[in-house]
Amino acid sequence: MLCVRAPGRVNLIGEHTDYNDGYVLPVAISLETRVYARPREDTRCILYSDTLDEQAEFDLGAIPEPADLPSGFVRYVAGVAWALQRYTGRTLTGIEATITSRLPLGAGLSSSAALEAAFAVLWNRLDDLELNQGMLAILCLEAEHVYAGVQCGLMDQAASLLSEVGHALFFDTRTMATQRIPLPSDWAIVVADTGKPRALAESEYNTRRAQCGAAVQALQKLLGEEVRALRDISPEQAALYLPLVEEPARRRARHVIGENARVLEFLNALRHADAARVRRLMLASHASLRDDYEVSCAELDVMVEACMHAGAIGARMTGAGFGGACIALVERAQRERFLTLAEQHYRARVPHYEPRFWVCEAVGGASMCPEV
Ligand code: ADP
Ligand code: MG
Repeated sequence: MLCVRAPGRVNLIGEHTDYNDGYVLPVAISLETRVYARPREDTRCILYSDTLDEQAEFDLGAIPEPADLPSGFVRYVAGVAWALQRYTGRTLTGIEATITSRLPLGAGLSSSAALEAAFAVLWNRLDDLELNQGMLAILCLEAEHVYAGVQCGLMDQAASLLSEVGHALFFDTRTMATQRIPLPSDWAIVVADTGKPRALAESEYNTRRAQCGAAVQALQKLLGEEVRALRDISPEQAALYLPLVEEPARRRARHVIGENARVLEFLNALRHADAARVRRLMLASHASLRDDYEVSCAELDVMVEACMHAGAIGARMTGAGFGGACIALVERAQRERFLTLAEQHYRARVPHYEPRFWVCEAVGGASMCPEV
């Protein structure tokens, strides 16, 4: 029996920057997906998700087109197999596999990338493909684009495959360069879910993307063709030229440009375990998402307030917004007290949603588990 583990992720800072060629800082968390698999003599894949109590199967000798597959988790697995086979020109080994996970599905912690990463690592080992983790991340992204129909960037797959224990993963979405940034060892990562589903997220997300595009066009007229994305505008240029851009594109751009600068400053703050600067940057990120980007909501604002009231080093909303979770950094020694106080504060103000809290460690990228 083979066993693989693949982590979910949470983004420490750098929100709504990924589709603007900007910077992000995800960390792989100790909420993981596991796959237990036995090779078969043929090319059939028989899958069971313990998480969903659902079964699915497909044949590696004739992987169906995305349109011919039922919706659901089989798409992610078939997609990974398809991408691996296309890239290597080989037919993979059939498996019987059981999927288990401590990750909540669809909560913005990237259970989809964890699922993809787990199967990519599994087949890489089983069929001696000898692909490195970076290549696996790119193939998992292809699976997500083509088979799940989600046009996301590489951040989630990179975080699930390229992270290192005790580190966050700085990721430049333009150059795809990565850098591992050590986290202070006495800080824990807390994911604080508001319990509010991210209802509006998709349509508002598309509007924000279009508004960023409008800002780039306006800035191009002022500054020239070398402005390809908001990434190319410095905070100094923003101060001079953004007043000439129309609302709401102006405020959207101000968020993205400021957020990119905050990610870079955050790296330094982390390296020096500078709690005061981390707090300032996380709160500034949240305020900018709330006021300039307008993707927060009352529940997310209350959760950030609850986390700070409970003694967090810093807290902010994470993910697309309009619900979902906050990320907080907390002194490890304080975490029990933190959880009690934050939950009390939130429940007293938001009685109609059920909050959830996960205390996580920063873990390494997807890998085979010891033999089971
Ligand atoms: P997120 O990645 O934020 O968790 P997505 O909507 O991108 O949300 O991915 C969630 C989907 O991934 C689920 O609906 C399911 O199809 C698939 N998935 C993830 N983990 C599992 C699992 N353990 N078992 C079955 N399917 C899973
Ligand atoms: Mg996902």
